Amino acid sequence: MKRIVEKVALTYDVYEKYVNELSQRFPELQVASCGKSVLGKEIYSFVMGEGARQIVYVGGTHGLEWITSLLLLHFCENIMTRKNCDGYISGYSIREILKNIQLIIIPELNPDGIEIAIRGGRACEEYKAENVKICNGDFGGWSANVRGVDINHNFNADWYTLRDYEKSKGISGPSPRRFGGFYPESEPETKAITRLCRHIKPEALYTFHSQGEEIYYEYGKNTPEKAFTMARALSGVSDYTLVKNEGHAASGGLKDWFIEEFGKPAFTVEIGNGTNPLPLSDFDDIYFKIEPLLVLGLVL
Ligand SMILES: [Zn+2]
Repeated sequence: MKRIVEKVALTYDVYEKYVNELSQRFPELQVASCGKSVLGKEIYSFVMGEGARQIVYVGGTHGLEWITSLLLLHFCENIMTRKNCDGYISGYSIREILKNIQLIIIPELNPDGIEIAIRGGRACEEYKAENVKICNGDFGGWSANVRGVDINHNFNADWYTLRDYEKSKGISGPSPRRFGGFYPESEPETKAITRLCRHIKPEALYTFHSQGEEIYYEYGKNTPEKAFTMARALSGVSDYTLVKNEGHAASGGLKDWFIEEFGKPAFTVEIGNGTNPLPLSDFDDIYFKIEPLLVLGLVL
């Protein structure tokens, strides 16, 4: 059967087409919306499996890192295909795994930002004039949402310390990257994931960014003891390096908030190596290297 998810730029049109086609081909794959972006785009989630333990995978938080969304869509298609034919990935029976857990995949937390990174200023709609100013007309490096808030700086985990740090670096208002908003959880994209997590209280959360081939696993005193063991196993199957938070990325992120709020394991996984946006020609190598980690994350 022909693959649904191809290696193409993930404009919102293409994304919605994939969401529809995946849900048609795999009727047991539940597609839901966990909220809407500032510009009203759906923040879709895919739910699969029947187990009581829920695990959340999030991609596409930063606009120019949309290769992480493609990665999760690709994984979603692979896992459902293997489930249907009673197949294995990395030696694990996918059907067995999905009896024991429920996986919730949110491929694009920031669909507006992704559309801007791919299509430029015309994707900003009524925010275009303002955004042209803050990025000097160069949208290729756009990370934030359409209001110039970096979603991964907008979570309520030592947010005020992060804000002081941003200010010390000259960032005090909307910016293509690294502005954490005027208060924590100010953005609908941030709220979409915090609301979901508060509602279902997942066992673990993985958030995918690019790039660096790194795994971040700790945040302050609430980091659970097993996080390090889990991170070592994840590193073992992917060859990605374990890293502790430092400097600018040390708070305000989704993983930080999740650990702080629930005391359960959360990981930031930086996929691939090179300069963002990573080229599509890197995709197969990235996927090959990280698929074992994506599967292991479901059984740890
Ligand atoms: Zn990122």
